Amino acid sequence: MAPDIEIYDTTLRDGSQGHGVSFSVADKLKIAERLDRFGVHYIEGGWPGSNPKDIEFFEEAKRRRFTQAKLAAFGSTRRKEVRAEHDDQVRLLIDAATPVVTIFGKTWLLHVREVLQTTPEENLAMIEETVRFLTQQGRLVVYDAEHAFDGYKDDPAYALASWQAAERGGADIVVLCDTNGGSVPAEIAEITRAARARLGGRIGIHTHDDIGLGVANALAAVDAGATQVQGTINGFGERTGNCNLTTLIPNLAIKLKLRSVPAESIALLKELSQFVDEVANVRPNPRQPWVGSAAFSHKGGTHVNAVQKLLRSYEHIDPALVGNSRQVLISELAGRSNIIMKAKELGFDVTKDTPELSAMLTRVKALEHEGYEFEAADGSLALLIRRALKEEPTPFRVDAYHVSMRSQGKASICEATVKVRVGNEHAHTVADGDGPVNALDGALRSALVRFYPDLQTVRLTDYKVRIVDSSVGTAARTRVLIESSDGTSSWTTIGVNENIIEASLQALVDSLEYGLLKKEFAAHVV
Ligand SMILES: [Zn+2]
Repeated sequence: MAPDIEIYDTTLRDGSQGHGVSFSVADKLKIAERLDRFGVHYIEGGWPGSNPKDIEFFEEAKRRRFTQAKLAAFGSTRRKEVRAEHDDQVRLLIDAATPVVTIFGKTWLLHVREVLQTTPEENLAMIEETVRFLTQQGRLVVYDAEHAFDGYKDDPAYALASWQAAERGGADIVVLCDTNGGSVPAEIAEITRAARARLGGRIGIHTHDDIGLGVANALAAVDAGATQVQGTINGFGERTGNCNLTTLIPNLAIKLKLRSVPAESIALLKELSQFVDEVANVRPNPRQPWVGSAAFSHKGGTHVNAVQKLLRSYEHIDPALVGNSRQVLISELAGRSNIIMKAKELGFDVTKDTPELSAMLTRVKALEHEGYEFEAADGSLALLIRRALKEEPTPFRVDAYHVSMRSQGKASICEATVKVRVGNEHAHTVADGDGPVNALDGALRSALVRFYPDLQTVRLTDYKVRIVDSSVGTAARTRVLIESSDGTSSWTTIGVNENIIEASLQALVDSLEYGLLKKEFAAHVV
């Protein structure tokens, strides 16, 4: 069934311009795949004309299949006085080979005159010709009207003329952008209605959260007839961020009863939010609406039964609808179904009648209390489930290790010693590295490849460290996420400890153990 509102995700482009956010190409691919599974309609992967990383992303993306979402490359209209087909930046958009191309152009005469330093007529030609060139190349074109609202307020007739130019060129949709984020809902609604009255095609909305109205403004536009909303997961984006899709999507589905992403995805919203935070290595915002850990937390204190009755009257929805949970009363049932779902995803046959299920749940809860977070660490979760199901000795054990550092002139060198046991055999190795984790990894690996030559192909591809909120436990803990790859698939493992080296070793051990056992697990683990 066609959606009422299309969701256009720009986490990987506008969101990556956010404060403290930096995605590698591998991060971007992981997020794109996750967004596709979640069911957004468009994924804006990046701006190939602005950086080589985004060109590489689109090269890699050519080899992937997206089943629900259409991938979009982002760029701008041609430069002034250059034919669209001769503009390098426009050519890069074609080279990205995406089904959708989104280009932005100027609505506001102030920008036309002062920033582009061209004539109003040339700006209209730039818009129309670029859109036409791209549609002639078989692309579906989304036209982002930059500063649409400020431009309209300044000169409504010119603003409309610029949007009509995009429509004449063949744009599939004209998206009104509140680029500076300073408009209020009533203005957004009024101008969106005016655009609807004058344009023939569909209208979308792209808002920013500069005055805390990103989502409200998008909803005002929807109310006025916009059928596509652009935004980012967790509201990542420049300055105070973009329209937060993690807030917008449940508002559309649950409050306004409008179809956007598949209904079954709504319950995966918290998971998606956590996943994107983990990949971005950003501390989740506990006060985030709908999906924050505090969104349904209650300061209890009274008798449990009474609180449970009372809670319903203090909750606007059942938190499970968005995959969240009540903080004071963690639902035992929700926990179980989460594990069952995860286990199935990882290729294990676990049902609600599996006897080991409650042991798994207890273990996961105990570890989460210590600061573990399995949302982005499927490798470690797979091992945890496997350990509960199979009473097999682990393929190896680390009996002892030692890490030291010395400085030599300007350089510092780390040395790690590791004692490993495999069955009844022992190995004792030493390795240098440019950091303690690198040295530890080297020592562990050289001890193990003698027993398991397959490990030669396993490489550590990413390493992320975060301090876990100290209010959770007594002392601040360090959470380490390690991503590894053997060239055919990749997996992420986790370690948590007060000591960063110990946390890293845990994640390394899981990484290598997973590498040895991965044949048993489903192929899509990331
Ligand atoms: Zn923007």
